Amino acid sequence: MKIRYWGTGASNGIPGVFCGCKVCQNARRKGGKEVRSRAQILIDDALLVDFGPDTYMNALRFNFDLSRLTSLLVTHSHLDHYYMTELFNRKPPFCRDTAADALAVYGPPELERFFDADDALRHRPPSDIKGMHVIFNALKPFKQVRIGGYRVLPVPATHATESPFCYVVSDGKSTVFYMEDSGLLRPDVFNALASLNLKFDLVSYDCALGTSDAVALFGIGAGHMGLPNVLKTRADFINAGMLAPAAPGVLTHFSHDGGNIPYAEFAPIALREGFITAYDGLTVSI
Ligand SMILES: [Zn+2]
Ligand SMILES: [Zn+2]
Ligand SMILES: [Zn+2]
Repeated sequence: MKIRYWGTGASNGIPGVFCGCKVCQNARRKGGKEVRSRAQILIDDALLVDFGPDTYMNALRFNFDLSRLTSLLVTHSHLDHYYMTELFNRKPPFCRDTAADALAVYGPPELERFFDADDALRHRPPSDIKGMHVIFNALKPFKQVRIGGYRVLPVPATHATESPFCYVVSDGKSTVFYMEDSGLLRPDVFNALASLNLKFDLVSYDCALGTSDAVALFGIGAGHMGLPNVLKTRADFINAGMLAPAAPGVLTHFSHDGGNIPYAEFAPIALREGFITAYDGLTVSI
């Protein structure tokens, strides 16, 4: 399985759209790995996970033809993961001759409701929405589905939307756990996941808070993690026998907030703890 990180930033990106802070100005000055678009990954050139406002430019810069996209998996309904207004461009005459008949969107049940209520689309009759050839598939916690060649297990995330999901994605050979966006898993969720006897070959962790402790700052229900929380989560996975030997841990979804520091300073700290710090364009094969 090949995982390409298209975007590795939080909702405002780095530099933040309108932000003039030290981290953001550093990113503007240095470019490269310091610049983070809104978080999303592409698995095997087949399954796109999340659809933020940078999808269009990310597809261009990573040379992916979105007219061939048949499956989209969405973690939750925040705008940086679900920029639904863009789906309007699937409608003729804005879209012709796509290789794919329809785009199957998998994710929380509220995605379809939010899409129907979107201000930019509201004045259009349902038949027009149908003309976008988008098929919504509402997922349920711990109800595994098959998407193309993948088995996908939705796991409730700890995050401030109606039904946010982390996903276990397996192609039959390798298994990845994509924790995005999420704080520490609730104990009942962790125990349910541990009882499935899965082995993760890679875990992708939310590290929005950089070196800061999200739980110390925001309490046990914090919707993101920092490095101390990621360390605890990894230790819990190890203790429960859920990590394959030498399984890489990748940190992503960085914000400029909460003790965050530039990539160049953060990456060596994370590496000392055995983590890969994601950047836009990183490819990891497992
Ligand atoms: Zn996010
Ligand atoms: Zn900033
Ligand atoms: Zn979010």
